[in-house]
Formats: sequence, C-alpha cells, structure tokens
Amino acid sequence: MDDCIFCRIVEGKLPAKKVYEDELTVAFWDAHPASPTHILIVPRKHIPTLNDVADGDPILSHMAGVAKTIARKQGVADFGYRFFINVNRGGGQVVFHLHAHLVSGNDLGSVFLKMAVVAAVLWRKLVGAFKRPG
Ligand code: 5GP
Ligand code: ZN
Repeated sequence: MDDCIFCRIVEGKLPAKKVYEDELTVAFWDAHPASPTHILIVPRKHIPTLNDVADGDPILSHMAGVAKTIARKQGVADFGYRFFINVNRGGGQVVFHLHAHLVSGNDLGSVFLKMAVVAAVLWRKLVGAFKRPG
C-alpha cells in the first residue's frame, strides 16, 4: 500500500522512532505524543481497521503481548498505561492501518480536568465564605 503512512514506516520508506520489531509487528513513537509515553503498535500486514481482522487471526493477542513487553522496557508497566484501538472515523481513527496505542503518564486532558475540578471546589468554598449566614 504505497499511500499508507504506516505501511511506508513498516517498509522503512518513512522514518519513525522504532522501539520494537518482530515478524508480525513494528512499534514506534507517535509523531504527536498525547502523553510522556505514546507508542503505536502496528501489524506489518496492511489491515485497515479492527473490523477487518479475520476471526481467529492471532494478531490482536500478539499486539497485546507486544504492548506488555514495551511497557516493561519503557518502565511504565507497574505505574500503568492505556492500551487501545480507535476504530473508524466515529471512533477517532485517522490512520487506516490497524494500530494500537500504548499511552502512559499524565495527558494534558486529564491535567486540565483535574485543574477544573480543583478550581470549581475552591470557587464554591470562596462563594460560601462570603455568603451571609441566614
Ligand atoms: P488514530 O487516531 O488513527 O488511532 O491514531 C493515529 C496516530 O498516528 C495519531 O496519534 C498520530 O499522531 C499518529 N501519526 C500520524 N502520522 C504519523 C507519522 O507519520 N508517524 C508517526 N510516528 N505517527 C503518526
Ligand atoms: Zn498500511
């Protein structure tokens, strides 16, 4: 697939910061990391989406095993991480070559959410402190 970015990375025709390779998969850093650790695990074979994985194809369990290995090597296995696949446009998929995300660390979304919750709690306390009793 000449027009597929991930096929080109798998074939070595496009550069990527690879962290792992085996006979079935290649894993590399996401070009726009959403967290301190953000690695993509990609099958060598061009499969557009999770919906296109044949029943009984061992690729999904293999990808999960690769995630486990990489998480250990990256030192995030005990801390924790997310392992997920976006499926089709409605599921947030942008690159139509099957891939799993391995994400760990504080992502900006959850940092802002926590800050918003803290701000709301402080605001309620502040308003409460200035309210006249009765
Ligand atoms: P999706 O939304 O399809 O699940 O995720 C695609 C991911 O691929 C995005 O997080 C995006 O940053 C990443 N990405 C897109 N193009 C490239 C590229 O050329 N190189 C690398 N390393 N990552 C890419
Ligand atoms: Zn491809």
